[in-house]
Amino acid sequence: MTSDALPKVNVDEKLGTLTYKADHQAHITIKDSSTCLNKCHDKPCVTVCPAQVYRWEDGQKKLIVSFENCIECGACRMLCPFDNIDCHWPRGGFGVQYRYG
Ligand code: SF4
Ligand code: SF4
Repeated sequence: MTSDALPKVNVDEKLGTLTYKADHQAHITIKDSSTCLNKCHDKPCVTVCPAQVYRWEDGQKKLIVSFENCIECGACRMLCPFDNIDCHWPRGGFGVQYRYG
């Protein structure tokens, strides 16, 4: 490794370099919230999302989706065991902006 190598940073530090242009229109929706409540015991979307978009609210018995924080990696849609996430790209000009492309 040379002295020109990029410094080692953790995921939180990398996420801190991102900027967002928030859209009022959600690009992520849950198809059937009762599936989250009654069928999906492990709720992998909550643990797999690197941007903590999904949070299970025990009091309300529902999944909270903070779509504004999405970094558009696609992991949640692939890993939802019930194909219960409708996720598409944000409208043009909205969403995450990567500092290094
Ligand atoms: S993984 Fe899918 S079914 Fe499970 S809680 Fe998340 S969105 Fe709901
Ligand atoms: S696409 Fe990636 S960042 Fe966006 S909600 Fe899904 S897992 Fe999280």
